[in-house]
Amino acid sequence: MIDLLKDLIKIESDTKEGANEALMFCSAWLKAKGEEVEVHDNDGYLMLTAVKGQGAEKIIWNGHVDVVPGHKEQFSPIEEGDKLYGRGSADMKAGVAAMMQAFVELDASALPREVHLHIVTDEEIGGRNTSKWLVDQGHYGDFVICGEPTHLKIGLQSKGILRMDLTFKGKPAHGSRPWEGINAIESAMKFHAGMNDLPFRKESTEYYEQPSVNLPIINAGDRYNVVPEICKMSYDIRFMPGQDKDEIVRQMEQLANTLGVDMEYKASGSTPALTTTDDHPYIQTLMKAVESTLSEQPVLFGQHGAADTRYYAEKIGGQGAIEFGPSGDDWHGNAEYVSISSVHSYKDILIAHAIAPTEV
Ligand SMILES: [Zn+2]
Repeated sequence: MIDLLKDLIKIESDTKEGANEALMFCSAWLKAKGEEVEVHDNDGYLMLTAVKGQGAEKIIWNGHVDVVPGHKEQFSPIEEGDKLYGRGSADMKAGVAAMMQAFVELDASALPREVHLHIVTDEEIGGRNTSKWLVDQGHYGDFVICGEPTHLKIGLQSKGILRMDLTFKGKPAHGSRPWEGINAIESAMKFHAGMNDLPFRKESTEYYEQPSVNLPIINAGDRYNVVPEICKMSYDIRFMPGQDKDEIVRQMEQLANTLGVDMEYKASGSTPALTTTDDHPYIQTLMKAVESTLSEQPVLFGQHGAADTRYYAEKIGGQGAIEFGPSGDDWHGNAEYVSISSVHSYKDILIAHAIAPTEV
């Protein structure tokens, strides 16, 4: 399995072509082990599916073989003790290699459910061409594990996304007499300061200390001697499970009213939060599989960012699509590595979870 992982790291899959090459490598590897594999093509983005087992329940293992750009030397894996360095080692070729190995080791006739393997090639650029496409084609199940690196902790929740584009309107005037105008930039600054005190910012949940609010874009002003009339400002807000995005919008509206600033807004996109809880039957069996494999208490946590989980979750009520993968560090950085022992444990946990009897 670790040789398979090393072979995957050597494929420079930081481009569409490279990711497709890695995908075809996975397909050939699985076929050589006697598995039936279907390769799908959406607009030149390749992905594969394979199925094993029987029964009414369906679980999905999802992994991506594309990686973020790396330095040339990162595509030569280096093993040092328990650490395997290389681009994509943690994010997430280790998860993919373990899923492939686990899949071939599964005894199809003894499986109480179907296990579907999905390997995709565009997670790092948003997943719309492959994971989302597969879901749109009907490839989803009752429970989905995305093998992103999580230190063998169970990432059962994920924040939702609310993108807000705000336009502040002022009144232009000559820069030498600013009191005759209204400065739209200053309105926006007042608003931004007020954002910190909104009630939704102070909330916390079992898995999150706070929502995430980032101000990534401001556009305003173009000359020294004019009081700016317009200031555009955008927020990327990641709200916690249980928070209502419409309520957040309402609080922002009310803030503008309270401050007396002229503000118009457009919500330019939103993604629901993933709200799986620990009493979910598949989380219960996964916790047992983790505990029996690692001989330690399983750890549950909430992710701040979104992954391909969100596409599957949309079909199953925001629940049952989780991130769970091996240990490592510095993914997207220069010293990315995965813990080799964690990859072995991960594979064992996947198998134990797949064959576990259904919880009633
Ligand atoms: Zn990833």
